[in-house]
Amino acid sequence: MPIENKDVTWVEEPIIGFWEATFLPAIIEGLKTTVKHVTNYQPTTEFFPEEKPTLPLHYRGVHRLNRDDQGRVKCVACMMCATACPANCITIQGAQAPWEDRDKYPSSFEIDELRCIFCGMCEEACPVDAIELTHLYDLTGFTRDEMLFDKEKLLGVFDQTKDTGYDPVRTHRGRLGPASDFEQLPSLSPATSVQSDDRSARSSSSGVIQGRAVMPSSWESVNDKIEKGK
Ligand code: SF4
Ligand code: SF4
Repeated sequence: MPIENKDVTWVEEPIIGFWEATFLPAIIEGLKTTVKHVTNYQPTTEFFPEEKPTLPLHYRGVHRLNRDDQGRVKCVACMMCATACPANCITIQGAQAPWEDRDKYPSSFEIDELRCIFCGMCEEACPVDAIELTHLYDLTGFTRDEMLFDKEKLLGVFDQTKDTGYDPVRTHRGRLGPASDFEQLPSLSPATSVQSDDRSARSSSSGVIQGRAVMPSSWESVNDKIEKGK
C-alpha cells in the first residue's frame, strides 16, 4: 500500500536558542517530574531479602530430581531432558539399574545451573516426572563448581521442597510415571491410524499397543469425564 503524505508525521529539528542552550528548561522539566513522584509516592520496590517475594505458581526455579516411594531416584536415564535442553546444560551418565523395575538409572546426573535459562523444557520432556523445577529462587554460590548440581544435590533439593506445599510431587503413585507404565495405559489399539487388517497393526514391534490393558482407576475417571464432555 503506498504511503500517503497525510500518514507521515514530519518532525522538524528543533531550533535551540540561547534559553534552551542554558539547559534550564530541561532541568526544570526534570525537577517537575521528581516533585511529582515525591508528592505522589507509589512504591513498587520489593525489600528483598528482608521481604520474600510472592512468586507465581508457574515460577521455574532450581531443579530437583524426584524420588519414588522407595527413596530411589525416579530417573530412568532416557536422556530426553538433556536432548530437549536448549542450553545444553544437562549431563547424564546412564548405567544398568540395580533394580528389576527398570533397565537404566543415572549413575551421574549434573545440571549447570549457571548455564540454565530455566525454560522448563527438561521437565516437559521427562516421561516419568523425574525432573522438576521448584520455587527455590535465591540460588547463590562463591564458585562456578558450586553451581554444578550433581545427583545428590538435586535429590537433596527434592527432600527440601517436597513438603513445602509450593512444589507438590506430581506423581504420587510410587511408580515411575505414566509413560513408564506403558502396559497399564488404556487400550487405544491401533495406536496409530492403521486399519485393523493392516499387517503393521498385527506387528509385535513397538509403536502398536496390542491387547486390552488394565486401566488404573485414576485413568478411568479422566476418561469418564472426557466422554461426558466435562
Ligand atoms: S530449564 Fe531449560 S535450560 Fe534449564 S536445564 Fe531445563 S531444559 Fe535446560
Ligand atoms: S527425561 Fe527424566 S527420566 Fe529421562 S534422563 Fe531426564 S530426568 Fe531422567
